[in-house]
Amino acid sequence: MDSAVIEEIKGIAGEENCTTKTADLYVYGFDASVHHENPDIVVMPKTTEQVSKIVKVANRHKIPILARGAGTGLCGHAVPLKKGIVLDMCKMNNIKEVQVEDLYCVVEPGVIYAKLNKELAKKNFFFPPTPGSGDVCTIGGMVAVNASGMRAIKYGATRDYVLGLEVVLPNGEIMETGTRTLKNSSGYQLDRLFVGSEGTLGVITKINLRVAPLPKARALALVAFDDLVKAGQCVSNLIAHPLIPSAIEIIDNVCIKAVNNAMKVGFPDVEAMLLVEVDGHPNVVEEEIKLVSEICEKSGAVNVEFSTDKDTMAKWIAGRKAVLPSLSRYGEKFVSVSLADDMAVPMSQIPKAVKAFQEIAKKNNVIVGTYGHAADGNLHTKMLLDPKSKKYWENGEKAVKGIFDAVLELGGTVTGEHGVAISKAPYMQTERSSALATMKAIKSALDPNNIMNPGKMMDWEGSIISNLRYEVEKE
Ligand SMILES: Cc1cc2nc3c(=O)[nH]c(=O)nc-3n(C[C@H](O)[C@H](O)[C@H](O)COP(=O)(O)OP(=O)(O)OC[C@H]3O[C@@H](n4cnc5c(N)ncnc54)[C@H](O)[C@@H]3O)c2cc1C
Repeated sequence: MDSAVIEEIKGIAGEENCTTKTADLYVYGFDASVHHENPDIVVMPKTTEQVSKIVKVANRHKIPILARGAGTGLCGHAVPLKKGIVLDMCKMNNIKEVQVEDLYCVVEPGVIYAKLNKELAKKNFFFPPTPGSGDVCTIGGMVAVNASGMRAIKYGATRDYVLGLEVVLPNGEIMETGTRTLKNSSGYQLDRLFVGSEGTLGVITKINLRVAPLPKARALALVAFDDLVKAGQCVSNLIAHPLIPSAIEIIDNVCIKAVNNAMKVGFPDVEAMLLVEVDGHPNVVEEEIKLVSEICEKSGAVNVEFSTDKDTMAKWIAGRKAVLPSLSRYGEKFVSVSLADDMAVPMSQIPKAVKAFQEIAKKNNVIVGTYGHAADGNLHTKMLLDPKSKKYWENGEKAVKGIFDAVLELGGTVTGEHGVAISKAPYMQTERSSALATMKAIKSALDPNNIMNPGKMMDWEGSIISNLRYEVEKE
């Protein structure tokens, strides 16, 4: 990037809020995906006005610009594929209003999910989406990806809580969209357009969020199965009863072993387990957790135990949250990679989906761990492979294709919550083929110079195993 442009940016944000140091640029080239690329400069703006001025500079010089939250995206979202400017939004981290009597709060995008919920809990409220990365990920990143988590079945995803946004558009103009009210029918719901836009349409600088009252009680059941498909069938049986738990997590034996090994959680070493959570009024919780146990037993569970003890529940949930990092310690030369990591199918199709994943893993000679937020049909798979081996990557790519084909065949989506970016781009293009032209038209109308997080989603071309963070052996 031209040194005069770098100086112009430093003049706007202040030298102390910019870095071009080699080590910093290298670090900002990563997120939680398998991809990597260095930016030319990292800027930490403090105000919307600074963002607007920097975006105007980028637009004038046609320089790629990428807003970054905590960099926990799993598909290459925050990897600056075409280099340019990374805007680290961490210094725009103020909770500006908490209005529980009106059921909303207003935050800057760099606010960490857990920090917001700590603040809301003081008033017995919360922002429910519960991503596994909630201790570190930002609200801006959650909105940009439409993140959600284990409680989506009962409480919905981030999109269900966004009431309004302030956005810096690719030409640097500041746009306000939406309201502070719970209802709003005043024209196009543009705030929805930016939810899931993955930084490709503008920089989100302020967010009005709906909040919900905290449930008074919770209970959690740990349910063991000797067969993964039976566990999947049990999820359908619970929901069809009918019963809407606040979460149902499914974990297969590969993941159970990894977590027991890394965290000593003491989960039963069975083929599959479910964690089923119910919440609400204490009387309802007591009744529903007993019902959960009955349905699970009838569905063939080999063991059911449940708890309302806070420490026990926290231990089980921590074990579930540790699945992803624990998988990286499954075997000495293996790393766990996020490729086909986030499919969603109609809940009744879970048994077929998990069976298909097992067969695809076997056929392609890769180890696949399956877990996820089964209550809303959201299944995660992680592939364990030797990242230096070309053969492993090739097998992995074939398995990914097999998994996505199976999911689409079952009426599902290639991503329930993690988004598209690079790793899922070709398969999203298949899934959304009839909408691609409209998506491209929106992008080029708002961002004619293609500066905002370019080369991702509908613009990605090529293999998902390129721009890798690993050195892969030639043969
Ligand atoms: C261990 C682990 C567990 C996870 N569990 C879950 C889960 O349960 N559910 C889930 O949904 N996800 C999960 N994720 C994925 C990830 O944490 C979420 O997608 C999260 O919302 C990303 O937030 P972030 O702040 O890290 O954003 P980043 O990774 O920094 O950015 C993500 C995208 O958002 C865009 N963006 C960020 N801020 C802005 C802004 N202000 N304006 C415009 N665009 C912006 C970026 O350009 C990028 O495209 C997990 C990740 C990890 C590593």
